[in-house]
Amino acid sequence: MDTQYFLNNPPNCLKPYAIALPDKFRNADEEFRVRNTIAFGVRCSCGNSALSIKGTKEEGASLFFGCLYIQCPKCSQNNLIFDPSKNGYDGEFHQFKIDYEGAKQELHRCSRCQGENFELAVLLEPENGEDGIFDENQKARLQDFFNSIAFYAICTNCSNGEWISSVECA
Ligand SMILES: [Zn+2]
Ligand SMILES: [Zn+2]
Repeated sequence: MDTQYFLNNPPNCLKPYAIALPDKFRNADEEFRVRNTIAFGVRCSCGNSALSIKGTKEEGASLFFGCLYIQCPKCSQNNLIFDPSKNGYDGEFHQFKIDYEGAKQELHRCSRCQGENFELAVLLEPENGEDGIFDENQKARLQDFFNSIAFYAICTNCSNGEWISSVECA
């Protein structure tokens, strides 16, 4: 599975929102380039790609660890784009354990300017499906069984880029 396959067949949770990776992410930072295996952009289904991001994090933490939502300032949609208890390898097999104690939902704010609107990129580590545990139906949608997922956001106000979530799903 390569990036083109994923663009044509995004994981279920991202299906309405996946777009080709915008150029601005290609030279985002060194770590992004190293991890840039399967990467694509995210936009609202109305076409707007300047989004607010809401998720669950522990007080004072920089990374979200649970469900992630995109909120569109243009059309007011609020959409769940990742739920680790349902999406990814462990989520698909109902094996993802998550402890929300002490965590709360909050809007992401840019660490540099406190802005609330971002362009968002997703990086996936695909499952190769070679270990013989998938049935035919699952093999036809291996993109849903990704092994890890990470999200990188670029502030539309000041162009600061930062990782906002990185989750091991297998
Ligand atoms: Zn929208
Ligand atoms: Zn900013």
